[in-house]
Amino acid sequence: MSALHETDVVVIGAGPVGLFAVFECGMLGLRCHVIDGQGFAGGQCTALYPDKPIYDIPAHPRIAARDLIAQLEAQAAPFAPHYRLGDAAVALQPAGERWIVGTKSGARIAAGAVIVAGGAGELVPNRPDLARLDAHEHSGGVLYGVRDASRLAGRRVVIAGGGDSAVDWALMLAPSAAHVTIVHRRTTFRAAPESARQLETLAAGGRVTIAAPARIAALVDDGTPALRAVRMDVGGDAREVACDHVLFCFGLVNALGPIRDWGLALDDAERVVVDPATMATSRAGVFAAGDVVTYPGKLKLILTGFAEVALAAQGAHACCRPGERLPTGYSTTRGVPLAA
Ligand SMILES: Cc1cc2nc3c(=O)[nH]c(=O)nc-3n(C[C@H](O)[C@H](O)[C@H](O)COP(=O)(O)OP(=O)(O)OC[C@H]3O[C@@H](n4cnc5c(N)ncnc54)[C@H](O)[C@@H]3O)c2cc1C
Repeated sequence: MSALHETDVVVIGAGPVGLFAVFECGMLGLRCHVIDGQGFAGGQCTALYPDKPIYDIPAHPRIAARDLIAQLEAQAAPFAPHYRLGDAAVALQPAGERWIVGTKSGARIAAGAVIVAGGAGELVPNRPDLARLDAHEHSGGVLYGVRDASRLAGRRVVIAGGGDSAVDWALMLAPSAAHVTIVHRRTTFRAAPESARQLETLAAGGRVTIAAPARIAALVDDGTPALRAVRMDVGGDAREVACDHVLFCFGLVNALGPIRDWGLALDDAERVVVDPATMATSRAGVFAAGDVVTYPGKLKLILTGFAEVALAAQGAHACCRPGERLPTGYSTTRGVPLAA
């Protein structure tokens, strides 16, 4: 069995609300361990609309989603949170007065309280319906995102999709990949006009091949885990394109995922039912905030999640420091206590 990590609060979800949980808990002297199934922080802001401006964050007339996340990370940093990214929380078990959260990779974290900030749930990539997909996902031939672009240097890459992420990856990988082919089922790309223009320029120079309208009909291998090519359907004609990797950029879908099985009261839409006065869930010591929760009058907004998680942090303090007075006072008078 893997080692047991100890902390005060396990925060599930590193979206904007989970990140702010670190600050609110930190101000109350609580250490956090933050878990997210995605390999990066920021939740929907990073995964779905990093460059879009948000207009309804108080005191920010306009802020790009990625900048908001960077600011939240900076605000959390003095409290030295332990981030476990790319590793979903899959189990929640009571251990006396504490909780143990188990992750997909087998890690176990014990805490006095848990704050579920799982938002819309796990953001999982839309997968195409193709034979031998699992095998090629496993061997790394099929990808849905690229954490380290240098791993694709000198490789032949096919990118499927016509939105911003497909075009952005084509632009980013083209200078170092052996070749990039972008496959889209329509003739026009839904990407930002400047990105689409840059793609045309690269295609004219021969660094990128645009196959559109076309779709990937099959993954081609020699019965081994190594991907050899993709078979494309180009206007009814079959064409094979040799490649080492195919990167599907078909967007993300939401699913509540393992949180569903943790014995928390849920409504019919699979949102976690909380008491809005405390953000307590139906299980003592487990709090929830942000898009994942429901209560009468709930607004699915970032600013609402921030206020909710301030309440959740107070509840977590009572669990982690029973009998201790809640630190009170404004941040202006208390300052930001640095983590020990
Ligand atoms: C296109 C778009 C535009 C938007 N514009 C605005 C706007 O202008 N203003 C506004 O206020 N809101 C806006 N929103 C909504 C806003 O993004 C959400 O309200 C906000 O992201 C909710 O934050 P959250 O932290 O609760 O959840 P999320 O941002 O959904 O983050 C939750 C995180 O939890 C993780 N997670 C879930 N389950 C697990 C698990 N079992 N283990 C580990 N990790 C898990 C997920 O991977 C995810 O990273 C917009 C949303 C979209 C899609």
